[in-house]
Amino acid sequence: MQDSTTDFRKLWSEIGVDLDLHDQLMAGLDRVFTHTHLWQKDRPASMSLFDKAFHDSHAGRVAEIAAYRAKGGKSVGTFCIYVPDEIALAAGVLPIPLCGGSGWAVDHADRMFPRDICPLVRSTFGMSFSNTCPYKKLKDFAVGETTCDAKKKAWDLLGFLSLEIPQKKNIIDRQLWLSEVERFRGEMEKLSGRAVTAEALASSIRLVNNKRRLLQRINGFRKLDEPPISGLDALLVSQAALNMDVEAFNAAAGVLVAELEERASKGVSAYSMPGPRVLFAGSPSPMGFAKTHYVVESSGLRIVADESCTGMRYFRDLVDEGASSLEDMISAIADRYFSIDCACFSPNMERMDNVAALLPEYRVQGVIHGILQYCHGYDIEAKALDKVLSAAGVPSLKIVADYGEQDEEQIRVRVEAFRELLAVGGGITTG
Ligand code: SF4
Ligand code: SF4
Repeated sequence: MQDSTTDFRKLWSEIGVDLDLHDQLMAGLDRVFTHTHLWQKDRPASMSLFDKAFHDSHAGRVAEIAAYRAKGGKSVGTFCIYVPDEIALAAGVLPIPLCGGSGWAVDHADRMFPRDICPLVRSTFGMSFSNTCPYKKLKDFAVGETTCDAKKKAWDLLGFLSLEIPQKKNIIDRQLWLSEVERFRGEMEKLSGRAVTAEALASSIRLVNNKRRLLQRINGFRKLDEPPISGLDALLVSQAALNMDVEAFNAAAGVLVAELEERASKGVSAYSMPGPRVLFAGSPSPMGFAKTHYVVESSGLRIVADESCTGMRYFRDLVDEGASSLEDMISAIADRYFSIDCACFSPNMERMDNVAALLPEYRVQGVIHGILQYCHGYDIEAKALDKVLSAAGVPSLKIVADYGEQDEEQIRVRVEAFRELLAVGGGITTG
């Protein structure tokens, strides 16, 4: 995948990666990436930076983290967008997102684990237990959370630190969450041997807020009649935002923003054909998985907004930069993360309100519920969301998918029927 493949093989070998299985994994990821992304004709030229980030996720990024650790730096694996990166960075600890997006790894996990858990967790298991995750030995420990049952039980099995995410949003729940954020700070300080100072935390809050602001700007272009970036490429940028070094990501995102401004001013579209504007809603799509986005956009629909954790849920809210004391900054971080509208909350009215607000803002004509198989929270919550969509006169289509490619054409048939329905202004079609 890289020019200096030999050097990376040496590095992978040193960090305990099974080279033969890793070759299989990489070949699968490359093939899927070519299939899902490289058919697009009118991509911004600077998407090459994010294509590179995809390929670097098992190469250049691994080398960066290995070099940081060789100098005494610490790193932790993270899952889920609830882990506050700002605190880890302020303690000098590099967060490494580990959510699995590889279908090959799912097959590997299925030899050892139950199949009726979501592919994100199975893929993570598969990479860990097949020794194909290069980050397995490049971290001091990993941090998970108690969002859904699949994750809770996975963290027990893998021996991860688990942050307790409350399932309601009352005052007592916010207090519990604040204490978990404090506990996380303590763990990061203990690991790095460096106290989090107000100055360091203010700096990392600004850095991560800037990343989220850049993502907001990139996604803002999708409101235009002719979006200069596709939904597939916007997804790739969001996936890269989770994997890349923050400063490197911000630099690349700045280049993309400048190009999108120019394309927008000239009316250059990412799409060669007209198509209905749809919102993608539901489960996350970790790097390596873009099947649903691919089928939807290659069937002639335009994903103009994505409210998932690999979309707006990650960048919609910023940490308030007004606090000056360390205590107030920690509290502002807790508030920002507590506002995440994951389907693990009951009830989850914030998500209903957030989606309702997106419909006029992005002139959404239809909603695709993109649900990972066995992701019960988002699957069941699609019903509640449909009530909101129905009231707004916006039809929806639910696609439940795993990471395999065998059902692409079946999904395409349903997406094409949905496209026709949107063309004639039809009603709700869930299934
Ligand atoms: S969907 Fe929920 S559990 Fe999954 S990454 Fe997002 S916030 Fe975390
Ligand atoms: S995709 Fe759904 S089921 Fe899977 S880990 Fe995330 S919230 Fe849990």
